Amino acid sequence: MTSTPDLTGKLALVTGASRGIGYEIALQMAAAGAHVIAVARTVGGLEELDDKIKAAGGEATLVPLDLKDLEAIDRLGGVIAERWGKLDILVANAGILGALTPVGQMKAKDFEAVMTVNVTATWRMIRSVDPLLRLSEAGRAIVVSSSVAHKVKPYWGGYATSKAAIDMLTRVWAAENAKGPMRINLVNPGPTRTAMRAQAVPGEKPESLPTPAQTAAKIVPMAAKDLTHTGKIFDVPTDTWTDAALPTPL
Ligand code: NDP
Repeated sequence: MTSTPDLTGKLALVTGASRGIGYEIALQMAAAGAHVIAVARTVGGLEELDDKIKAAGGEATLVPLDLKDLEAIDRLGGVIAERWGKLDILVANAGILGALTPVGQMKAKDFEAVMTVNVTATWRMIRSVDPLLRLSEAGRAIVVSSSVAHKVKPYWGGYATSKAAIDMLTRVWAAENAKGPMRINLVNPGPTRTAMRAQAVPGEKPESLPTPAQTAAKIVPMAAKDLTHTGKIFDVPTDTWTDAALPTPL
């Protein structure tokens, strides 16, 4: 998938929009005509995004928010309902890597942080905007996962478990909405030149990886009005749609 869809008049909420893949998805969706609601904690990153979107003639609303504040996620749904009365696109992209450590030595606070941001906040955002996506004529949800959701990789227990959990959550949500106009899918962005990747694989040469803009360009078409897939995973590195794979053995 490569062609950028026309998102004129669409309202898109992108989490993790202050840097990396989410920043570029927000930028490209705004360039395609969407009004972007950009969510993250770092105000500087959000303001930089806003400047770029406005310079290109687009529109954004900035929402500085810590996704660990689950009640703030509920309130955000309420604000969107009051101001716009619907939501067309959800990109649940925000995530943290947490500590890469043996399962038996994981610190409780590290495990809990990964589960709260990657799983509970994603569910809470889904719950908050589900009624608004239903009010769109073509609601689209893109939930950002990872290949490690289906790959047994020592020391990645916290992050991989969180991604496996949101995979199932998203697929169940998609199944519940299989008959309506909504399309709800997962994406594996593949290795991408971001802060998270540098933290995960510090020895790697960043230039060897696709840029966030390149990865985002493959993800944005998942918001297209004519998309037929739902409950699937789009794998960016191979450019293919798949059903959830079983975990690969050791
Ligand atoms: P980055 O670390 O570059 O960006 C993560 C984004 O999430 C930031 O905008 C950050 O904003 C936001 N975020 C993190 N914690 C919170 C929080 N508590 N509240 C609000 N926002 C938060 O990561 P990437 O761009 O690399 O990753 C984006 C997604 O892609 C993630 O879900 C990741 O798991 C997935 N992914 C990435 C891969 C890669 O190679 N880069 C590979 C496979 C999957 P802020 O800190 O300002 O709050």
